[in-house]
Amino acid sequence: MTWHVLGAGSLGCLWAARLARAGLPVTLLMRNQQRLDAYLQAGGLSLIENGQRSHYPVAAQTCDHSQPISRLLVACKAYDAEAAVAQIESRLTADAELILLQNGLGSQSGVSARVAPARCILASSTEGAFRQNDFEAVFAGQGQNWLGDPLEQTPPDWLSELAASGIAHSWSTDINTRLWRKLALNCAINPLTVLHDCRNGGLEQYPQQVMALCNELSTLLTACDQADAAQDLHQQVLQVIRATAQNYSSMHQDVSHGRRTEISYISGYACTAAQRLNLALPHLEAVHAQLVQALEARGLPSR
Ligand code: NAP
Repeated sequence: MTWHVLGAGSLGCLWAARLARAGLPVTLLMRNQQRLDAYLQAGGLSLIENGQRSHYPVAAQTCDHSQPISRLLVACKAYDAEAAVAQIESRLTADAELILLQNGLGSQSGVSARVAPARCILASSTEGAFRQNDFEAVFAGQGQNWLGDPLEQTPPDWLSELAASGIAHSWSTDINTRLWRKLALNCAINPLTVLHDCRNGGLEQYPQQVMALCNELSTLLTACDQADAAQDLHQQVLQVIRATAQNYSSMHQDVSHGRRTEISYISGYACTAAQRLNLALPHLEAVHAQLVQALEARGLPSR
């Protein structure tokens, strides 16, 4: 069964390269003929691991190709995912399965509703990769991929293909808890690193602000029936800040490179969820509003 990969960016190339080198059939889906031509010109994708570059001439086609798609890895940014999936929707087979790699919350429900009743497997990844050039990904941080399906606890049979490809993964029976927990961690850390223009460790200078955010996020998670995700949130946020002290958050990296952030799927999602429940979370709302202002001041999208 072919692995179709929608989004030939950092994570898409990282996954495609590992699947291809395990001898599995992989096809990249490009948004248009111009991107396909650029890929063909590059002669394939490259993955750089531990300073070693490997080249993989993975097959590619445009989204409007006619080949049916049964297994789709969606590796676009959260704000592009639904529109990208819409481009290939008519190609999905009746028993198609999708794996959604998007960070934050909000995009997964949009994609799932669009492709229903196709099975959507949600992922939470702590792997790190960045794009050095077009179709050239650097594997910057080993990690884990938790995969799960809130609607169906039976794991898919292709997990063995991930194992054969050396893709670290676990099947999770509480993927929503993991996604909410990661959302809360991202909400407590990422916007502040942009507002204070600092590495994660720089937040040790703002303990009151971090604590206030964690308290409000715990309230939100509990109100959203995610009490497990709220357990010891403040402690874990402090641990992450210490353990990743030298790193710049993904949101800080996006802003410093002049790229669009996934704000609507992180603090934006949390604020909308709070408003829907009539919960007043003044610190979270203030940080989100300041982030919107900071993005607009830099000419970046604030949604
Ligand atoms: P990325 O490098 O920006 O790659 C996204 C890719 O999607 C780009 O190649 C883009 O194409 C493609 N794309 C967008 N719309 C498309 C369409 N309509 N048709 C076909 N392709 C389309 O992003 P990323 O860093 O891999 O992140 C993907 C998701 O994974 C994000 O939600 C991110 O938060 C999450 N994540 C990333 C990491 C990481 O370390 N990178 C870790 C954990 C989670 P173009 O090249 O043509 O622009």
